[in-house]
Amino acid sequence: MHLSSPQHFTSMKQALISLFGDGVKVAQSHRISGGDINEAYALTLTNGTQIFLKSNTKEHAAFFTAEASGLNAIAKTGCIKTPHILCSGTEDGNPGFSFLLLEFIHSQNRAADYWESFARQLAAMHQAPSTDFVSQGTYGFLQDNYIGSTKQRNTPKDSWIEFFGECRLKPQFMAASRYFDHTDLYKINRLLDNLHLFLVEPEYPSLLHGDLWSGNFMTGNDGKAWLIDPAVYVGHAEADIAMTELFGGFPPAFYDAYQKAAPMQPGYHRRRDLYNLYHLLNHLNLFGRTYLSSVKRIIEHYHTF
Ligand code: ADP
Repeated sequence: MHLSSPQHFTSMKQALISLFGDGVKVAQSHRISGGDINEAYALTLTNGTQIFLKSNTKEHAAFFTAEASGLNAIAKTGCIKTPHILCSGTEDGNPGFSFLLLEFIHSQNRAADYWESFARQLAAMHQAPSTDFVSQGTYGFLQDNYIGSTKQRNTPKDSWIEFFGECRLKPQFMAASRYFDHTDLYKINRLLDNLHLFLVEPEYPSLLHGDLWSGNFMTGNDGKAWLIDPAVYVGHAEADIAMTELFGGFPPAFYDAYQKAAPMQPGYHRRRDLYNLYHLLNHLNLFGRTYLSSVKRIIEHYHTF
């Protein structure tokens, strides 16, 4: 299976002409804050269209091809909205830059059933057939991608537990090794060796958003939740739900509706922190020691389980 890649241009000017016609240029650009990794802008074009631009250095062009593949995969399930991908590109030159152009999301007021509808759409995405998103095996993705700016390994595996250990926890633990002493390493190895005691194989494999915190969905012009900035892979749906709980959680209406649409396997709350250990380790690796105590608390809990 192949997900179509967006058109890739070697200049923004060319991209705009090809997408919108001769003579169309940027009339106004307005910086948007909120992203962790890239620069983001609302661009108003000379033909009046508004588009969304993300840019980074040209060495980081792969962030955007990976993001486009993820948005494409989510869109392919047809269950929940994502912004339409216009194109990606790398502008050569000194210093040059890489870019991704997306449909601009014009946010409206949230629909009255916003959280219920979000939960039902996410559950539908989790229940959608996922075989198109792995080349072999059951878990993983067609390509590696990024979680923040960290490379996220998506090597196919037939076991979710093996995938989570090998492709999620181990690479992050290795990157964070300078934070751990001998005793920590003993506990970490015990935890990794005993993952099968804590985790369960899912009832069905799911396409996951992969980085589902409150900064990664927006309200679209239909008043519903649209997913942005994914780090997709096929895994256990619980991992997406766990991440929604990591930084404060969504309202109860969301979890009630999700549970009705896609009942969670018993024992989810005992597994939740282990899924979030992946994101906390990633934060430790990206942003430093502030996250170390949360990481150690989870290691402590699971190694003695
Ligand atoms: P980063 O990759 O740096 O984390 P994001 O994808 O989170 O960047 O985007 C940064 C901000 O831009 C978001 O918090 C959101 O407010 C806004 N944004 C993202 N995508 C769109 C879009 N398609 N249309 C309008 N605004 C967007």
